[in-house]
Amino acid sequence: MVGAGAAGLFCALTAARDGARVTLVSRSPLDGSASYWAQGGIAAALASDDSPGRHVADTLAAGRGAARASAVRVLCEESPERVRELRRLGVRFDADRHGSLALCLEGGHSARRIFHAGGSATGRRITRQLAALAATHERIDVLEGTTADALLVDDGRCIGVRTRRDGEQTAIVARATVLATGGAAALWERTTNPAGSVGVGLALAHAAGADLADLEFTQFHPTALVSDGPDDGFLITEAVRGEGALLLSPGGERFVDELAPRDEVALAIEAELRRSGEPAVALDLKPVDMARFPNIADALARNGIDPRRDTVPVAPAAHYTMGGVATDIDGRASLPSLYVVGECACTGLHGANRLASNSLAECFVLSHRVAVAATDEHHPLDARDARAAALPRPPSPQTLAALWRHAGLRRDADGLSMLLDDPYPVARLIAAACLAREESRGAHQRTDHAEALPALDGMHTVVDADGAARLERWE
Ligand SMILES: Cc1cc2nc3c(=O)[nH]c(=O)nc-3n(C[C@H](O)[C@H](O)[C@H](O)COP(=O)(O)OP(=O)(O)OC[C@H]3O[C@@H](n4cnc5c(N)ncnc54)[C@H](O)[C@@H]3O)c2cc1C
Repeated sequence: MVGAGAAGLFCALTAARDGARVTLVSRSPLDGSASYWAQGGIAAALASDDSPGRHVADTLAAGRGAARASAVRVLCEESPERVRELRRLGVRFDADRHGSLALCLEGGHSARRIFHAGGSATGRRITRQLAALAATHERIDVLEGTTADALLVDDGRCIGVRTRRDGEQTAIVARATVLATGGAAALWERTTNPAGSVGVGLALAHAAGADLADLEFTQFHPTALVSDGPDDGFLITEAVRGEGALLLSPGGERFVDELAPRDEVALAIEAELRRSGEPAVALDLKPVDMARFPNIADALARNGIDPRRDTVPVAPAAHYTMGGVATDIDGRASLPSLYVVGECACTGLHGANRLASNSLAECFVLSHRVAVAATDEHHPLDARDARAAALPRPPSPQTLAALWRHAGLRRDADGLSMLLDDPYPVARLIAAACLAREESRGAHQRTDHAEALPALDGMHTVVDADGAARLERWE
């Protein structure tokens, strides 16, 4: 298991519970994972006036005709049970004043179905609890401060990883290898993500011969703080808009439905910024009880902003990669015995636009399925002739600037073509996918192909081991 965010921790705990021996390799400390930073919550249709069917309909609508229906059904039908399981594992979700579980509303959801823990500290609460359980589990060996720098491949099958710690390399051979290394949104210069989210799992899997998919779909979160200091890009969850926060133009006018799906709100802000020439629009938090969002209140205080008096300058930032290593709905990659889960995987679930709070839900639902499938691998192991498919050098600041410029909220063929020569392989593969989809849909907006093409409904962009992109339909 590579990665100790929500997906890796939950997968390790589930596999170990089912009798597997797990080696959990994690490069960064706990607070270096995107999971630790998650503010909003987990989507699960548990309210009496809600249903998995409604959650399916909302997810398909947000996905703009590109979400894979089978994966959406799995997510929406199984997330209620995973939330119950997290509670059994000791995660304390927020309750209302009657002691019942408190459910919040977020953009694109037609019902209150978002579970929070510790207000806007959901990710921190969950990952701390799961990490504490993993650290003391007798069948889980945790290797912290250890980087997986290559996948081991023998006879067309993944048979483990090569790790590096303090300059020393070690081979870990396994019947099933699971990548849970997180997303790639920190490849864009302006981002809400921890610096390590640069698509490491994508690079590892692609070097080993696995297909990647839907790399053209990167979600730009509408409301990231604009600041001169280190908090630039700090996420202000849309849960605050669910509680009444308003978006205002530099002239003080509302210009968008604050609860529309993310792609719509982000594009409306981008258009407003282009029109006004300002670096930010204003988020008015006065209607919101900020005691419910303590880490946002802290970040604003650090930046000298008093939300009772001031509006907050915000603008879009790269936030979430809907694409990743192509997998089936049990997390199987195209390379046998390699499983991928969490943000580095692409089941096709999110289509062209992720619905808020569906990604933590995905981490738990798919991790459970991966753990079940991976513990069922029984092929013999022989590492003598294994080939190590190694990581490229990390991306440079020039690569991050080039992606923001040429593969940002709006892109075109001229800019994207420049990325095809970028030294970082994942940047080249993103460009290939963006070029292959000659239409505009959800998070992928081409100024040179401004309309959605009905012929591409339900189609996914697959980039193969040679870097060639093709569009294909997934069941
Ligand atoms: C600010 C913010 C707020 C968010 N809020 C929400 C929310 O409210 N609800 C929601 O559903 N989603 C939210 N998201 C998205 C969600 O948090 C992520 O999609 C999800 O947590 C990803 O989990 P993961 O386990 O796949 O990856 P991560 O949590 O990023 O974990 C990746 C792990 O892999 C390790 N790793 C990476 N490369 C290597 C390597 N080569 N070797 C060893 N280890 C490696 C890292 O150290 C880390 O432990 C938010 C994201 C951000 C950035």
